[in-house]
Amino acid sequence: MTTLPDARLYIDGKLRDATGGATFDVISPWTGEPAGKAADATAADVDEAIAAARRAFDTTDWSTNVEKRVALVRKYRELFERDRARLGQLAMHEAGAALGAVNRAHVDMALDGWDDYMTVFDKIEWEKDYGEKPAFGMIHKRLGVREAVGVVGAITPWNVPLYVNIGKVVAALLAGCTVILKPAPNTPGMGAIFGELAAEAGFPAGVINVVFGADPALAGEMLVQDPRVDLISFTGSTGVGKRIMEQGAATLKRVFLELGGKSAKIVLDDAPNFAMDVAMTMLVFHAGQGCAVQSRLLVPKSRYEEAKAILKGAYGQFGDNWGDPNDPAHIMGPVVSRRQMERVKSYIDLGQEEGATLLVGGNIRPDKGGGFFVEPTCFVDVTNDMRIAQEEIFGPVLVVIPYEDDEDAIRIANESSYGLSGGVSGSHDRAINIARRVRTGSMSVNNGMCISGDIPFGGFKASGMGREWGLEGIEEYTDVKMLAWPVA
Ligand code: NAD
Repeated sequence: MTTLPDARLYIDGKLRDATGGATFDVISPWTGEPAGKAADATAADVDEAIAAARRAFDTTDWSTNVEKRVALVRKYRELFERDRARLGQLAMHEAGAALGAVNRAHVDMALDGWDDYMTVFDKIEWEKDYGEKPAFGMIHKRLGVREAVGVVGAITPWNVPLYVNIGKVVAALLAGCTVILKPAPNTPGMGAIFGELAAEAGFPAGVINVVFGADPALAGEMLVQDPRVDLISFTGSTGVGKRIMEQGAATLKRVFLELGGKSAKIVLDDAPNFAMDVAMTMLVFHAGQGCAVQSRLLVPKSRYEEAKAILKGAYGQFGDNWGDPNDPAHIMGPVVSRRQMERVKSYIDLGQEEGATLLVGGNIRPDKGGGFFVEPTCFVDVTNDMRIAQEEIFGPVLVVIPYEDDEDAIRIANESSYGLSGGVSGSHDRAINIARRVRTGSMSVNNGMCISGDIPFGGFKASGMGREWGLEGIEEYTDVKMLAWPVA
């Protein structure tokens, strides 16, 4: 039974099927069965989308007419507001978001982020006076002018697709770029809606294009390799991010990468609410499929047994209250695909082989609805050199690592190829000092919220480069041109 409307491509101002009419099934993570159909873009379709975006950037006033584009982006936002319910359905049936989390985490947060972009946009300095300076016997006046980068290829993942699609498309449009959005094969509908609503809002042809297909790499690689595309804005795995950097080098393309993570939460022995801090690391929200989730819990050796008991109790209380998509009390559903389920299970097996102790969970649960369900799982007695502590699992699997003292906690947190996010809970000054020394793009101190559309987000090390959201997130899509002229 299909529950989703067909996902169609949007190229050069036209909503359409793929050349040749091929489609692919969008599989419901809840049932494992087809939930809808999506157009399977060919290389010719992608080529046409790139040509249209290039033409719109080079031959229209899109990049220079700020008032016009802000008005259209506002109209576009209103249409997304109207279609909130549909956005929730897509998050649920494509990405497997549970009913209790759909609105808050997948729709509200994304649309709030859009509103934040509209607010910070007003703070962009489009022109900057660099003053006067003598050179070659004359005084020169210098003016910096901020301009749109050009054609953007926005390649996005399936886990929080609305949030990431907005993060890229809206920033690029506000900056004056034209865009080709390429969502993941699991979530084409959440991309297609950007095409449908762009058509309704009346954007000039070519300003926004949306392409997707069954092959995860085809359209993305074309965007990365094509000299007509000026910037690749990518969110996804570190492996694909590296490949994009390599392939983008041939055309010296700007690449902006938001990649994976294995973030540590350090709970100090003087955490104001030790039990709550430990318990809230249970990786159950969206089945642990968040780039910034704190999937390594670091607890002091002196309170390790206590932490284990707290987790056992918290998972016990969570119990079997997850799975059914129609239960609004559920914040955890399936993982996104059979492949992801098998990958997560292979890490659970690996953890046991590596000598970690399974505290809770560890099983695949087809009884939850036929889809891709993995039990909330927690490993204790984990050392930081184990692969389950070093590699991103992207599922409901928490690893708990003991540490000796503050220096040891900082060392463990930093001994990771990733550097996306993390947290410290403890007495304020001590926690802030530790947070400053962990090499990540954000650190939440005593559970402070550091993901919001009005502040920058991004990674250090193998978690990427560049910043999404906030003023910095829009400026990623701009470049500075210097003008200078003699005045005396
Ligand atoms: P992925 O890397 O497999 O795919 C991401 C996108 O890249 C998809 O659209 C995919 O079709 C496309 N793609 C695949 N191969 C490609 C290639 N060779 N060239 C160009 N594009 C290609 O990631 P995923 O499984 O969709 O998403 C999960 C990953 O995303 C996790 O690693 C997660 O940490 C990361 N993520 C990061 C952030 C962040 O802000 N840092 C946010 C969300 C997700």
